[in-house]
Amino acid sequence: MIVKRKSLSWWEQIYLPAIIGGLKVTLRHFFARKVTMQYPEEKWVVPEGYRGAPYLVRDQQGNTKCVSCQLCEFVCPPKAIKIIPPGPDGAAADRPNAEKIPKEFDINMLRCIFCGYCQEVCPEEAIFLMKDYSLTGLSRQEMIYNKEKLLALGGVHNDHIQKWKHKLEEAKEQRTFPLNEHE
Ligand code: SF4
Ligand code: SF4
Repeated sequence: MIVKRKSLSWWEQIYLPAIIGGLKVTLRHFFARKVTMQYPEEKWVVPEGYRGAPYLVRDQQGNTKCVSCQLCEFVCPPKAIKIIPPGPDGAAADRPNAEKIPKEFDINMLRCIFCGYCQEVCPEEAIFLMKDYSLTGLSRQEMIYNKEKLLALGGVHNDHIQKWKHKLEEAKEQRTFPLNEHE
């Protein structure tokens, strides 16, 4: 099927109406309020509750809260988390009565989709999605954040429960798990 092209009038052939129409749009936007941000000099103010990159946190005594339960590793949809639990010769505990500090804890930020499942599932409130949304690196390896980096970025989280602080006293009170009488 051949569609006949509509012939232009003399007024249309000189393109003036189209040019004037285009200039009107340009002028209207020229004087309108600007919405473009000069990123990265100007930073976007992240709203409350925004879910950015997940980091590990310490409690107010500086103790690592993660106990290597690996729930977050299990639920993470893109398999971005890799945890190596301490094992018999694992990482030294940085608090009394705790022996399950992860030996290694990596998050591949290239895989992470900021879904928040790790935060939801964590029984220790040890991992939180913070407000970082712009993560950059010069190599893939650089985008795999290790335990030290995750803890440094996560900072301190005010822990109101602090169950580890009272764990030994509570254990002694629990007759279901009799302790060595000589202790
Ligand atoms: S936010 Fe989601 S994708 Fe990212 S590490 Fe946590 S569970 Fe995995
Ligand atoms: S961050 Fe939380 S869920 Fe993940 S291993 Fe540590 S304690 Fe378990």
